[in-house]
Amino acid sequence: MSNRIQAIRGMNDLLPDQSPVWQYFESQVAALMKRYGYDEIRTPIVEQTALFCRSIGEVTDIVEKEMYTFEDRNGDSLTLRPEGTAATVRAAMEHGLLYNQTQRLWYTGPMFRHERPQKGRYRQFHQVGVEAYGLDGPDIDAEVILLSARLWKQLGLYEHVSLELNSLGSNEARAAYRDKLVAYFEAHHEVLDEDSRRRLGSNPLRILDSKNPAMADMLADAPRLMDHLDDESREHFEALTARLEAAGIDYVINPRLVRGLDYYCRTVFEWTTTALGSQGTVCAGGRYDGLVEQLGGKPTPAVGFAMGIERLILLLETLDTVPDEARAPLDAYVLGMDAGTDMAAMALAEQLRDTAPELGVQLHCGGGNFKNRMKKADRSGARVALIIGENEQASGTVAIKFLRDDRNQEVVAQQDLAATLRSL
Ligand code: ATP
Ligand code: MG
Repeated sequence: MSNRIQAIRGMNDLLPDQSPVWQYFESQVAALMKRYGYDEIRTPIVEQTALFCRSIGEVTDIVEKEMYTFEDRNGDSLTLRPEGTAATVRAAMEHGLLYNQTQRLWYTGPMFRHERPQKGRYRQFHQVGVEAYGLDGPDIDAEVILLSARLWKQLGLYEHVSLELNSLGSNEARAAYRDKLVAYFEAHHEVLDEDSRRRLGSNPLRILDSKNPAMADMLADAPRLMDHLDDESREHFEALTARLEAAGIDYVINPRLVRGLDYYCRTVFEWTTTALGSQGTVCAGGRYDGLVEQLGGKPTPAVGFAMGIERLILLLETLDTVPDEARAPLDAYVLGMDAGTDMAAMALAEQLRDTAPELGVQLHCGGGNFKNRMKKADRSGARVALIIGENEQASGTVAIKFLRDDRNQEVVAQQDLAATLRSL
């Protein structure tokens, strides 16, 4: 009878054979952020529930049914963060980062949503996000899109993703459009599914987002937000697309792209792929000028995006674009021939870590006879075994045995070892 405790559904372990791809992705991201002048911010995983209700919106999928909310021992309502923007705004406000200044920030970490787990959709998943504050022009919208485009290029994904854009206009323009839309949906009430009927009173724009094929024709003829933009939003949008064109970034205008969070205005965008089945959005974002004020700060323009790391890793693996170096195995496995030379082996391994810090060096531990030791050397995946017996110890040398190449064993002076390994 087995009663071993298992991981929570939809929450994944990241095993050693997968971590090199994650590390590759994460190091590419960190380097990219530096190149664009974005600074990292880290916020707690748990926040007050009210933060998410007030920012994401009460009538959104996330707040209505996906949050991990619990009462802590003081009776406060806390929530595991379902996304990163609200917490970034909270932290930036709390520490005065938004006071008369611009900020370019990025974050990464786990997010939590109680969704139905499936490929590319989990209950604990990871995002990388950027948020830029204090800039209201299309130049910064273009910058965050160019930053993401550069990441796709760096990762070899650019040919496999496409950019969809829309503008949600100003709050006033959207409110006027909303009335037109509601009138249109009411005229087609019989076609609306249950979910959409529920949204009609609360969040009618989200109906545009529906994937229900029975509603597709009706939605295709719905009034378009693009046709109801205020002049400023239209100019903003045109200036953004002009910049993308100048930078050679292709895009498609998707008039039904509305995004699931309430805080967006003007620019919204998504990067999608067809290579992952139905979980095709790998990055999504937009402008959210009203959020800082909504959370109690001074009005502050803001734009950002979040990308789903699991989906991007799946994409990297599906397309097989991870360079071999990312999975580079150990360089050397150091062993004494027997217990009498274990100490000498340890000293050699430490010396090698001093003189060749770029190498991955594993020391044999756990004793055993020579045959056993060599078996472990082989299993370690290292390119070479560095062996010290009594003779080598006495003469200050070490034997290099090539574990992957058809090449004779060599003996070199210990002091030349780093140079020899580098030249292999
Ligand atoms: P979707 O339409 O796929 O549910 P969303 O609009 O809820 O996405 P956002 O809140 O904008 O997603 O999050 C940004 C990105 O984070 C998504 O584009 C996706 O790549 C990723 N993401 C969102 N939810 C999940 C999840 N449950 N599991 C894995 N990745 C996710
Ligand atoms: Mg979702």
